[in-house]
Amino acid sequence: MAFAHAFTDRRHGDVGDVDAWLATAGSGLAPPPGPPTWLSQVHGAEVVVVTEPGEHAGAAADAAVTVVPGAPLVVRTADCAPILLEGRVGIGVVHAGWRGLEAGVVEAAADALSGLGGEPDTVRLGPCIRPRCYEFGEVELDRVAARCGDTVRATTAWGTPALDLAAGVAEAARRLGLRFDDDGTCTACSPRHWSFRARADRGRQALVAWVVPS
Ligand SMILES: [Zn+2]
Repeated sequence: MAFAHAFTDRRHGDVGDVDAWLATAGSGLAPPPGPPTWLSQVHGAEVVVVTEPGEHAGAAADAAVTVVPGAPLVVRTADCAPILLEGRVGIGVVHAGWRGLEAGVVEAAADALSGLGGEPDTVRLGPCIRPRCYEFGEVELDRVAARCGDTVRATTAWGTPALDLAAGVAEAARRLGLRFDDDGTCTACSPRHWSFRARADRGRQALVAWVVPS
């Protein structure tokens, strides 16, 4: 079973409107094999199960899973975490900020993929804001730490409390017994990425993934 995936950046254009983005030649990616399932992301733990290309497009959810070849899944981010789940015969995409981590969206997506027989084995984290740039309120930090463990507690470059989103994703992977792979990029530091928090950017990058048709 082969999977294709891409974490896009500014060079691929703004993915705010997924259908419009895919229609432009400028995206610079291998074209997805069918209409995409993108999500109206709400920082929750809702997962959609995609059984044909484009199913549930626009649904209010933060994760999508599929074992169907040729059904592209898309999540969009500016500082939140784009996460790819890879399994034996399927994939999942997840959008997770701190509310999603607290709500258990990574675990919910892994469960949904397992329910399809797709049994995840790897969690891949793409570009997201990193703790040195992500000042965070102590009250909210306590909430996330209660759910995700104390490894999410960090400090900004300027010495104030920070959230380590990547550590939260890593901890979810560890508890699920999955391999964790992190690209390490900070959207706030990287000139190649959009960051809402650092620059109030309106643009969005994306994670696009599909099971390659045989
Ligand atoms: Zn940074």
